[in-house]
Amino acid sequence: MAPLSRQSNQADFMNGLGHKQDQDCVIEEQVRTDRLHQLFRQSFAAILGSFFAAAMLCWLCWDRFDHHVMQVWLVLLGASSLLRVKMFLEWFRSPNSERTPERWERRYWITLMLSASIWGAGAFAVMPSDDRMSQVLVILFIVGMSVSAVSCYSAYRYMTMVSMGLVLLPCTLWLLFQPSSMQVGVAISVLVFSSFVVSATRKLSDALEKAFRLTRQMERAHTISTHAAQTDELTGLMNRRAFFEHAQLLYTQCRLNQQPLCALMMDMDHFKQINDTYGHQAGDQVLRQIGGVICASFRQADVYGRLGGEEFAVLLPNTSLETARSIAEELIKAISGMVFDPVQGLTASLGVASTYTRDEDLHALMNSADKALYRAKALGRNQVAVAE
Ligand code: GH3
Ligand code: MG
Ligand code: MG
Repeated sequence: MAPLSRQSNQADFMNGLGHKQDQDCVIEEQVRTDRLHQLFRQSFAAILGSFFAAAMLCWLCWDRFDHHVMQVWLVLLGASSLLRVKMFLEWFRSPNSERTPERWERRYWITLMLSASIWGAGAFAVMPSDDRMSQVLVILFIVGMSVSAVSCYSAYRYMTMVSMGLVLLPCTLWLLFQPSSMQVGVAISVLVFSSFVVSATRKLSDALEKAFRLTRQMERAHTISTHAAQTDELTGLMNRRAFFEHAQLLYTQCRLNQQPLCALMMDMDHFKQINDTYGHQAGDQVLRQIGGVICASFRQADVYGRLGGEEFAVLLPNTSLETARSIAEELIKAISGMVFDPVQGLTASLGVASTYTRDEDLHALMNSADKALYRAKALGRNQVAVAE
């Protein structure tokens, strides 16, 4: 048993929560990931929708469009839709940890651009140059497609705008340069409607991004306030309240598993004198160092904290009274051997109790350890006493 070399799961209490700039970077990365998840959640229906819209247009204009061009268009569109379905299936099958923007954003962009280009170019190819009725129908469908893009890709503003452009522009630009004022009028109307849609897209994606950022910032604030409420500011260990919360859980768990649980209570010797001699700040520095020693000394499964003043407590699950006593003695030895410049001759006393000897509840166990601590003080300090 070498408690002073043990790594602790409560090291987080010592480490704090990182710098503000790092936190901002983490939040930005989380927002980016949230947007990607939203994109995948929102847009699966778009794959089937875009193929269905093309098939519907071909069916409505079966006698007006060139059959060969229609077939090529639908085959290409079907192939690009299958590519997108494959990507979605891989997304749904992948674990959450792998659903990162670095892994998926590029792939999504490529498949969407391919599909939108095939839609826009295909609509232009099937649209007869001499049939106004067909042209109006094609325009109706491409406007419908671009409005649907807003509802599917709004988490990504530029994705929405580029896919809209690829679908709308080939037919619209062609119409814009036709001699008939009706065709030019339709093209201008499409461009005007599109500008409204682009503006709506910007507002929607900004609002979504703001909502994601606020949610992540609130989560962060909650973590920080919970951490502050549970941490002793001076030593970074658990404070009294957090210690007893964790201690109660550990006590219940040990009882259920019928494992022994030992409690150590430690109080620094003559600490008032230390403060009087070296000043309160030096006393604080000593307490900080003691916190570091305790943090580095115990196992992942142990629970420890500063109960107040210069009193510390530790719970050792699945540990015999004998082992707990030797851990306590090592701790006392480590403290008395430490150099706390300029403080000299610092010692501590420790009381040890076990659920073997007292098993009523957590508070009875802690009281036994406390009584043992006072016996250690009465016996001359700088020593360990075990509860009777
Ligand atoms: P004993 O050996 O009997 O324990 O003597 P003691 O002087 O340590 O007595 P006691 O434990 O009753 O007194 C605790 C002293 O610890 C009182 C106070 O001056 C000091 N103390 C408590 N909290 C802090 C703190 O946060 N910082 C500093 N520097 N001193 C503290
Ligand atoms: Mg004391
Ligand atoms: Mg005390």
